Amino acid sequence: MKTLVIVNPKAGRRVFLNLYLPQVLRVLKRGGISYRVLYTRYEGHATRMVARLRQWADLITVFGGDGTVREVVKGLGDQSLPIAIIPFGTVNVLALDLGIPFNPVQAAAVVVNGKKRRIDVGYMNGEPFLLMVSTGLDALTVHNVDLRTKRVIGRIAYLISAIVTIATYRARRVWVNIPETGLRDRGYLAIVANSRYYAGPYRIADQTRIDDGLLDVVLFKRRSVAAMLRLLAGMLFNRTRFLRDVAYYRCTEVELSSRRRQKMQMDGDKAPSTPARVWVKKRHLSVLVPRKRGAGLIPR
Ligand SMILES: [Mg+2]
Repeated sequence: MKTLVIVNPKAGRRVFLNLYLPQVLRVLKRGGISYRVLYTRYEGHATRMVARLRQWADLITVFGGDGTVREVVKGLGDQSLPIAIIPFGTVNVLALDLGIPFNPVQAAAVVVNGKKRRIDVGYMNGEPFLLMVSTGLDALTVHNVDLRTKRVIGRIAYLISAIVTIATYRARRVWVNIPETGLRDRGYLAIVANSRYYAGPYRIADQTRIDDGLLDVVLFKRRSVAAMLRLLAGMLFNRTRFLRDVAYYRCTEVELSSRRRQKMQMDGDKAPSTPARVWVKKRHLSVLVPRKRGAGLIPR
């Protein structure tokens, strides 16, 4: 068994990287897995390295956050190599959804003796995503996050950005079009979710599953600042299902459009503006997860 270990050294603190990476590699070696360690140096680097070296490996191990996982999946293209995740960095929503331990050494043990689980992969205009894409306030928040602040204070950076964004926000209308049912609807913030968790341990829609072959579309129909603050509070306390003026749809494909181009985000990173066609490939990706269900469900 051979694996590429893709390390994003910028995802977390250097001291933790120096502490955990050697331990992780020791677990792999003891488990009979030979490895080649590669460090990402810029955005998109993981995609290029995986595309170039995937023939060599039986498995790709990601030592990083959600952004690095997405880059690796993009680099795999249509080749069906399994991936493993060693959570490292600010946000590891996918690991949370799949019950992968947040302790890197325990996560390395899953690489050695875990089982494969097939999950859905979303695509927006041809680019893969694992968690969600969105437009509106939510996407602006991502665009406004200061990356240096994010490295220092972590997840709180998103909350601060959300508040700043709300204070200066002018809502623009977004249209949702679901070809398979002919449905058309409009609102001010659209989230298309593949994973049931959002920006951490928060949930947008309870029924969302990462392997049901469906995307969950959540459309917020109010534009006032008060409504946006309610939305933010609702998410922080997992009460969005009680919010008024929210429409839910499930589909395999959805189009998002707006009169003027609107900023978008995918998996918590900046993405090109609207219009967008979003679709899902059912159980397209194989991920190593713990054999016992529920192991490692507690986030840091
Ligand atoms: Mg789903």
